[in-house]
Amino acid sequence: MSTDAVTMDKIVSLSKRRGFVFPSSEIYGGLGSSYDYGHYGVLLKDNVKARWLEAMVRERDDIVALDSSIILHPRVWEASGHVSGFSDPLVDCRTCKQRFRADHLADPEHEEMRCGKRPSKRPGETPDCDLTEPRQFNLMFQTRVGALEETGVDVYLRPETAQGIFINFKNVAQIARRKPPFGIAQVGKAFRNEITPGNFIFRTLEFEQMEMEYFVPPDEAEEWYRYWVDERYRWHLRYGVRESHLRVRPHEADELSHYSSGTSDIEYLFPIGWSELEGIANRGAFDLTQHTEASGTKLEWVDAGTGERFLPHVIEPALGVNRSMLTFMVDAYDEEVVGERERTVLRLHPQLAPVKAAVLPLIGKDTAMVEKARALYEELRRHVSVEYDDNGAIGRRYRRQDEIGTPFGLTIDEQTLEDDTITVRDRDSLEQERISIGGARTKVAELLADDWKTPKAS
Ligand code: ATP
Repeated sequence: MSTDAVTMDKIVSLSKRRGFVFPSSEIYGGLGSSYDYGHYGVLLKDNVKARWLEAMVRERDDIVALDSSIILHPRVWEASGHVSGFSDPLVDCRTCKQRFRADHLADPEHEEMRCGKRPSKRPGETPDCDLTEPRQFNLMFQTRVGALEETGVDVYLRPETAQGIFINFKNVAQIARRKPPFGIAQVGKAFRNEITPGNFIFRTLEFEQMEMEYFVPPDEAEEWYRYWVDERYRWHLRYGVRESHLRVRPHEADELSHYSSGTSDIEYLFPIGWSELEGIANRGAFDLTQHTEASGTKLEWVDAGTGERFLPHVIEPALGVNRSMLTFMVDAYDEEVVGERERTVLRLHPQLAPVKAAVLPLIGKDTAMVEKARALYEELRRHVSVEYDDNGAIGRRYRRQDEIGTPFGLTIDEQTLEDDTITVRDRDSLEQERISIGGARTKVAELLADDWKTPKAS
């Protein structure tokens, strides 16, 4: 029997217990909204990025990759509108000394917002709350480039990866010899001085983004916008997110950025409620126009043969790696009672799972079993991410693998010593199949390539 008993606390605790995510700077008391990723967190995050890049670049002919700098010329952020407009309205409470997003105060979606007093209240709820008027607070981190204070230049850590793509439009369009519609995809760190409480890795000061700018002829923009909303929605489903927990929410007219003629959020039903997972925006010609005007370089598409030229419009799907990883973990988290035992299992899509198979000698102290298991492990590790474990009771070893989401357990037992067969244990159904040890590599490859659907109830 399994229940959808997931809470953010359970995810935080599993993440720490199994080494996915640790609070940052913990030995110094921690730093709010910052996290460090442990071994399995790194592997899971890498798999999320790999699946995104596969869908965006490897499986397509019309999108190329880019890796631009984190620190760009400061004028980029003036032209993009971030210096003047990338800000949140904040209020301070003179009583509890905390800071809140003014636009979240009355928003039922942000029920969880609490002040620093005990018992904690919703800011503004009691006469004790002494809130200031809202002030605009820029989210960009500033730093200085240059050895000398006098000659140094103020620069910003990028708050999104997208601008690095726009300013490279000409380079890429010319060298890749692409004609719109075509896209440029980038994965990289972004930094935002977020004030609101983080909800674990949902919102952090630094995070990774996977953004793609798709340049299209202006009269095709609406059609491509709808295409990308649909395409991105299906990507989350492809990797196992339950349809009952995913929805597309088009922005209301008053929510739209001034340059956008259409934006939709793909939202996930997190334990904190429906929240943005990914945004898809129809940005029109805003970015290329701004950078053309500010830099003096014409960022338009020109056909070298016919001389045809136009300013493309841009469709942008933008997804946070960390938020996507959190979604996959929340959606995969399950608890069930099997026989008399309770187990926690991360039912991750096998292609996302940090470890694909665990190689386990049934009796860790049996030299013959260990020898066979080590040989199998050495063979498999050359092809996929596998783990060897001979430490402790087999039940405990299985439970550890269940918690990190390893889809297959390969167990070497007494019978292996007689006939060279092993068991393959399925993480979700707990069914065991006997196969020959020589066929293990092919079996794992086949299992990984199979279609997969979450066994979790919707
Ligand atoms: P939000 O409304 O949650 O602040 P946003 O609309 O400002 O997000 P975008 O600028 O559209 O976000 O960024 C694209 C994606 O980057 C978001 O959908 C989210 O997945 C991710 N993201 C944005 N800010 C953060 C953050 N502080 N921490 C983690 N991920 C983030």
